[in-house]
Amino acid sequence: MSTPLQEYLEQTSPEKLNPAMTAYVANLQQTAAVAPDVAEAIVRELGTQRAHLKLVASENYCSLNVQSAMGNLLTDKYAEGYPEHRYYGGCENVDTVETIACEEAKALFGAEHAYVQPHSGADANLVAYWAILNNKIEIPECEKLGETNLSHLTDQQWADLRQKLGNQKLMGLDYYSGGHLTHGYRQNLSARMFDSYSYTVDKETGLLDYDAIEKQAMEVKPLILLAGYSAYPRAINFKRFREIADKCGAVLMVDMAHFAGLVAGKVFTGEYNPVEYADVVTTTTHKTLRGPRGALILCKKEFADSVNKGCPLALGGPLPHVMAAKAVAFKEARTQAYRDYAKRVQENAKVLAEECIKLGMKLQTKGTDNHLMLIDVTTYGLTGRQAENAMFECGVTLNRNTLPFDPQGPWWTSGIRVGTPAVTTLGMGKEEMKEIALIIDMVLKGTKPGVAKDGKPAKGKIVLDPEVKKNATEKVKNLLSKYVLYPELDLDFLEKHFCK
Ligand SMILES: *Cc1c(COP(=O)(O)O)cnc(C)c1O
Repeated sequence: MSTPLQEYLEQTSPEKLNPAMTAYVANLQQTAAVAPDVAEAIVRELGTQRAHLKLVASENYCSLNVQSAMGNLLTDKYAEGYPEHRYYGGCENVDTVETIACEEAKALFGAEHAYVQPHSGADANLVAYWAILNNKIEIPECEKLGETNLSHLTDQQWADLRQKLGNQKLMGLDYYSGGHLTHGYRQNLSARMFDSYSYTVDKETGLLDYDAIEKQAMEVKPLILLAGYSAYPRAINFKRFREIADKCGAVLMVDMAHFAGLVAGKVFTGEYNPVEYADVVTTTTHKTLRGPRGALILCKKEFADSVNKGCPLALGGPLPHVMAAKAVAFKEARTQAYRDYAKRVQENAKVLAEECIKLGMKLQTKGTDNHLMLIDVTTYGLTGRQAENAMFECGVTLNRNTLPFDPQGPWWTSGIRVGTPAVTTLGMGKEEMKEIALIIDMVLKGTKPGVAKDGKPAKGKIVLDPEVKKNATEKVKNLLSKYVLYPELDLDFLEKHFCK
């Protein structure tokens, strides 16, 4: 009996042989030899991804080249430390990979220093916070005591230092205004290790009010002033943030997890480019940046030594295979093709927002400068949760999102967040954005809040008009049939060989 790989090679003519598909078949065959159920789930995910229109603002599709760089023996290697400074032997090749990734990241963003080990955006923020605490609190305290080795501090000195480290002020964007959990939300470590303060957007306009932020920062005097968001549809003026940080004596940290791709792609330049102004910049690598799941820290030279201590500070060993994939992604992002992509992400978002507004939707801040928009779904008589469910039933994935000062709270919410990075990767443009706006409007209009058993309205349940569902699903299918995800991969073949 022949294997899937043999069959694929036999039935494919040499000129049609495609390395990405060959690699997928070979990899899945290896996986299936041990865990056929896992191989099946991987194939099913391709089917699911292909069958849904992805408007999740934080997701994207990385290239198959990026994916290939992750599936190898680099995962076996421990490499605690950083290049040329490891706690393990035999790290030459990991050094090479990590150094390439760092150099590419520096060149891509014009940064003084790059650290590519964080496994996720949350980890990157943790490392950044502690690197800043190290620079601004620990090192000066130790200097006062005339000691550089923490183990040599007396118990009392160590207790005092820990008190100081644990009692610093962080000021970041409020979760409801679009900030991230790690920016000082009480459920997260960040609000527990810092004395945490939040600024909000303006109640009327929904925009950041720099004068109000300045006033608050002068009162709070935070150690760290943090800018960046997960759900704010406008560009941020980082020059203005720098001024505020300088005035109140704060370190300026920017979390560009969502819009790093727009910075890398030179859509956000000058005062909208955080790398020029911030002391420390963190980002995920898998959102607009379109790399592997992971994160990155960029910083000024002053913070480089502390950032490099991510391990042992907060992280264990790095993921060398993911650092390899990051290097590939950064190289891709330095091309004109990527810059064109980034520009289209923003253009598509603009068109989509305009079309939604034309259809009568209420958008937070009345539009967008970046890759995402927030739609207030209360005008349709729905909660965010209901809107999310209705869209998903019609083949569209997006997520519900709190709106600033949202009375519905973070579970039900009043809004949905819609982003263009993934559909732009598929190749969609202005015409498709118009179609997507129509689909969203049509589905939300065709959805009524469901009722609970006691007859009361249920915030999570929906009644979706079957005719609308049929029509919308058809339209989504039609769009997706023209823009196939990873067209190199033959889903029928993979399903036939790896799915029961
Ligand atoms: C997504 C995001 C993160 C967290 O990234 P993970 O990789 O999920 O940990 C951090 N900050 C911001 C602003 C984000 O949008």
